[in-house]
Amino acid sequence: MRKDTFPGGTHVTENKHDTEKPIVMGPNPARAYSPLKQHLGSATTPTVSVGDLVKIGQKIGDSDSYVTAPIHASISGKVIAIEEMAELKELGNCIVIENDFNDESDNYLGKLFSKKPEEMTKDELRQLIREAGIVGLGGATFPTHVKLDVKTREIEYVILNGGECEPYLTADHRVMLEKGEKVIKGLKYIMKAVGSSKGIIAIEDNKLDAVQYLKNLIQDENIKVQVLQAKYPQGSEKQMIYACTKRKVPSGKLPLDIGVVVNNVATAIAIAEAVEEKKVLTSRVVTVAGSGFDYTANYLVKIGTSIRELIEYHGGYKDKISKIVIGGPMMGKAYFTDHMPVTKGTSGILALTEKETKVSKVRNCVRCARCVDVCPMSLEPTTLVQLIKADRVDEALALGLMDCMECGCCTYECPASIPLVQNLRDGKQKARLKQG
Ligand code: SF4
Ligand code: SF4
Repeated sequence: MRKDTFPGGTHVTENKHDTEKPIVMGPNPARAYSPLKQHLGSATTPTVSVGDLVKIGQKIGDSDSYVTAPIHASISGKVIAIEEMAELKELGNCIVIENDFNDESDNYLGKLFSKKPEEMTKDELRQLIREAGIVGLGGATFPTHVKLDVKTREIEYVILNGGECEPYLTADHRVMLEKGEKVIKGLKYIMKAVGSSKGIIAIEDNKLDAVQYLKNLIQDENIKVQVLQAKYPQGSEKQMIYACTKRKVPSGKLPLDIGVVVNNVATAIAIAEAVEEKKVLTSRVVTVAGSGFDYTANYLVKIGTSIRELIEYHGGYKDKISKIVIGGPMMGKAYFTDHMPVTKGTSGILALTEKETKVSKVRNCVRCARCVDVCPMSLEPTTLVQLIKADRVDEALALGLMDCMECGCCTYECPASIPLVQNLRDGKQKARLKQG
């Protein structure tokens, strides 16, 4: 079997367990905490007030900005607060809804869009995707209607990202196996919205059951499944585009500049459900995994559910936890509290113990060039870090500092345990401050 790939990258320990287990429903939470900003772009402002009664699917936040995505109630009940979460102020204000457990639904999209899916224009599709609050569900959370606004550019390929290269995470694997028809339908709606004639579902070769299942389902000669070598960071947009098309996204450019649009497989499902069932985005599949738990599971979770409540539902921690990671261990974000909500971007919740998070002692660089060999962006991490530390950020910028996507391959491979990616992140921050 042909397996495409990209230059560089590394083979991480996969730790993907229990992949044969179906997705299960998460808890029906007593309260839902919906941050006003769950996406890249502008925060929404509340469209409800404290004391209001809301139904599932009702819009509760929106913004006039272009790059934003509305938010909707995931449970029915009463708005009891619009406030920051005490333990995690960085999330900003959240709309807190107390569940009345009546599970009443609001047909928000159905009231706005009455045309049959096949009769909808490109603009109407994009407008519906916006009103459904759909963002990139792979973790990037970029508003999808903006991504699909390709303006005058000709889009040859739409790639659905089923790479899921981060260790532990198995949510995309499961949704491809359980909602394959919707994956294909969502892909077709995206192709229509951007005017593309070729669709690719790209899947790593560690998910061959999903490859086979989707191949059997496809009945359209313009759509194919492309098998990619399992290698980190295969799921990253630029690497996926190269593996599938051998096209390179130039520095500072976007995939659409080279005729490609990439969306996650779960995003495609959300689009199919919005177009055909008029469902807004009020839930998502989340992997709960890591050595701090007895087992791995994928839950369909109502957005706004407290992670603490979800973990209790999962059976609680089995061991002393040193860190909670939201997302994958390579590019996810570590937290020291679980009192925060599942948001649109929560692809995984990992509980890691001290053994897994132990940091080795940093030693001097031995000039082995392993960091250079694995960098998928063809950068020289060790040189960049030296320049950043010497406060020569301009020279680091000239060598492509801003092209670093913080994938962590260099840090993962460094035998001297130098925290290269952290230094690079600091350097990028310094550069942004300098540029104002
Ligand atoms: S973190 Fe940046 S420098 Fe390091 S391997 Fe990834 S892209 Fe390259
Ligand atoms: S991998 Fe580490 S030790 Fe090797 S050259 Fe890069 S920074 Fe130096």
